[in-house]
Amino acid sequence: MATAPVLVLIDHTDDGAVRPAVRELLALAARFGSVHGVWVDPVAPGADALAELGAHGASQVHVVAPNGEHHLTPVVAEAIAVVVGSVAPRAVLLTNSFEHKEVAGVLGVRTGAGVVVDAAGLEDSDGTFVATKSVFAATWTTRCAIRTPLAVVAVKPNAAEVVATGQGPASVEVHAVDAEAATAAARGVELVERTERAPSGRPDLSSAQVVVVGGRGTDGDFGPVADLADVLGGAVGATRVATDEGWIDHEAQIGQTGVTVSPRLYIGAGVSGAVHHRGGMQSAGTIIAVNNDPEAPIFEIADLGIVGDLRTVLPAATQELRRLLG
Ligand SMILES: Cc1cc2nc3c(=O)[nH]c(=O)nc-3n(C[C@H](O)[C@H](O)[C@H](O)COP(=O)(O)OP(=O)(O)OC[C@H]3O[C@@H](n4cnc5c(N)ncnc54)[C@H](O)[C@@H]3O)c2cc1C
Repeated sequence: MATAPVLVLIDHTDDGAVRPAVRELLALAARFGSVHGVWVDPVAPGADALAELGAHGASQVHVVAPNGEHHLTPVVAEAIAVVVGSVAPRAVLLTNSFEHKEVAGVLGVRTGAGVVVDAAGLEDSDGTFVATKSVFAATWTTRCAIRTPLAVVAVKPNAAEVVATGQGPASVEVHAVDAEAATAAARGVELVERTERAPSGRPDLSSAQVVVVGGRGTDGDFGPVADLADVLGGAVGATRVATDEGWIDHEAQIGQTGVTVSPRLYIGAGVSGAVHHRGGMQSAGTIIAVNNDPEAPIFEIADLGIVGDLRTVLPAATQELRRLLG
């Protein structure tokens, strides 16, 4: 009997380009069986996208024109659930973006699947999927066995090496799938407007002269951090907590297990100054810390410390700098 396939949600840009993280998912999926892609978009994948999926191991791609706005996570989850119903896969793999983690959760509720997000690795242990993940700010590593027939796993970047099989597009079967009538959950939110953020034009993090860093204190809103970086012509960095939360790309992580920076000016906002973070930034020329806890360890190494709420301090600084810089 053929083994059940593994589905991979194909994360792609609005103009139909497959996002790089998908290649890792395809490589990971190929370890466990045949690989099927799921493409959720009213616009079908183009020849380039199919060629790329084929070259990285997908044998079939299910194209679902969703019944609803395909940028909404419940709509995407419903579309995948339809494919799950028709091909009965062993697992669904998704990228670990904020949206896809949400899709994973909704899909788990829809299908009764066990869900793991933030997985740093996935193995098949005698027919049971076991995911590895770090918890408690990476101080513990856990292994989670998924006991349901279907596993839904959102996988962090760098969990698998990319393998191009060179299969080529001719080998990819494309199936058009009819979406089911949208449920009340998928109709519950209407997307009324989308505004694409303009390319940042920011300097490279590792070589930037000014780096503005956000930590857990941002609570996921990097807007004030990015605004301050932009007015100073700087780069945006982050602590591991912020990248692990999926608030910002992993490339932005500064510290022992991230990028080492040595800018002329480092501004840390909502950053405690843990030893693992300091390892990547304490050679900065001038260190400014914004933290609402006067006891935060970062003040021990800061040249200038501001005790306050970053949501107030950063916009005020940005506004004043804009005024001064014209
Ligand atoms: C092996 C290992 C490697 C690691 N590698 C790295 C690494 O490379 N880089 C890294 O950064 N971490 C790394 N870590 C994690 C590190 O130990 C810390 O957990 C992490 O740096 C803490 O991130 P944080 O400062 O954002 O969060 P927290 O330590 O939780 O600090 C958040 C801070 O925000 C402040 N705050 C909260 N709300 C506000 C507000 N509204 N305004 C202003 N301040 C506010 C709080 O007072 C607090 O000081 C590693 C850990 C391990 C075990």
